[in-house]
Amino acid sequence: MRTPSCYDLFVATWLRSCKTHVHDSPGGSFGAAMDLNTITTVAHPQTRAQLPVWTPGDAWLAGGTWLFSEPQAHLKRLIDLTDLKWPALTIMDSHLSIAATCTVAQLDGFACPPDWLAAPLIGQCCRAFLASFKIWKTATVGGNVCMSLPAGPMISLTSGLDGVCTIWKAGGGEQQIPVIDFVTGNQRNRLTPGDLLRQIDIPLPALKRRTAFRQISLAPVGRSAALLIGSLDADGTLALTVTASTVRPIRLSFSKAPDASALRDAIAQQITDDLYHTDIHGKPLWRKHMTRRLAEEIRGELLGATRA
Ligand SMILES: Cc1cc2nc3c(=O)[nH]c(=O)nc-3n(C[C@H](O)[C@H](O)[C@H](O)COP(=O)(O)OP(=O)(O)OC[C@H]3O[C@@H](n4cnc5c(N)ncnc54)[C@H](O)[C@@H]3O)c2cc1C
Repeated sequence: MRTPSCYDLFVATWLRSCKTHVHDSPGGSFGAAMDLNTITTVAHPQTRAQLPVWTPGDAWLAGGTWLFSEPQAHLKRLIDLTDLKWPALTIMDSHLSIAATCTVAQLDGFACPPDWLAAPLIGQCCRAFLASFKIWKTATVGGNVCMSLPAGPMISLTSGLDGVCTIWKAGGGEQQIPVIDFVTGNQRNRLTPGDLLRQIDIPLPALKRRTAFRQISLAPVGRSAALLIGSLDADGTLALTVTASTVRPIRLSFSKAPDASALRDAIAQQITDDLYHTDIHGKPLWRKHMTRRLAEEIRGELLGATRA
């Protein structure tokens, strides 16, 4: 994490003042001076039944770290998810349930059982977040996944651990979509207007696998340009999840241990050039090179192989 900038302090102070000055009734409205000056209403549902009927100009408000970071002239109403008070993290019989409103700091502070060999990934992905502790304490896992930025570290974590999204559909009912399929491109996903991401479930077997993590940024505290997670199942299946270098998460799976050239071929075939992301945090050719290099390091770490 880097030290807080003036901008971080502004965001944190702003968010705190908004949240502490909103005292209206559930589902009601609040008018206040705010920098999103097209917003006329902030709704505070406490249950699913109280969610207002979705209309154009609505947005879900989670941590607000992105929503309040740039103009949102098309928005008229925010629907604050805070008062739904979903438990942040719950260990169930078959999975760990992460509420969409769980903050990055809550996830990082979670005490994992000792047999969760994959537990270090949680801290590693939280630290891949280009943000100060103030943003960490406010930004949510669901907000990060729904932003669907290539460098979304919560996308990396949950897709690398076979996470499954539960979506409350705008018209009623629920839909389950694996995180790997949920994010479809840079700031694109499977949500349709009014859909709400409720939670992400991580199967317990995924948390008990051996894992390896590699991440690189162009600048020392820059946004991730490539973030790869490898995991090795008890049956020998090796999975490699590529994020940040690509516009969406990509999963490569090998039922038997690949050698260096099999891994290289699989990357070349399954990650075509158009899938590599480009922005100021890295050119596609460099991201491609780093993807191949970090993948080989992960193969070496998980299989004990020598580098090719
Ligand atoms: C200093 C700083 C550094 C940042 N660094 C990174 C970074 O390294 N990587 C990165 O990916 N992002 C980064 N961001 C962007 C953003 O802060 C994060 O993606 C953050 O996780 C968003 O979470 P939030 O809870 O604040 O979302 P919000 O800002 O509240 O919402 C983000 C978007 O998701 C929607 N949304 C939120 N929750 C849900 C839900 N449950 N269901 C449906 N839609 C929902 C909102 O309507 C909005 O469109 C950074 C932002 C700042 C200010």
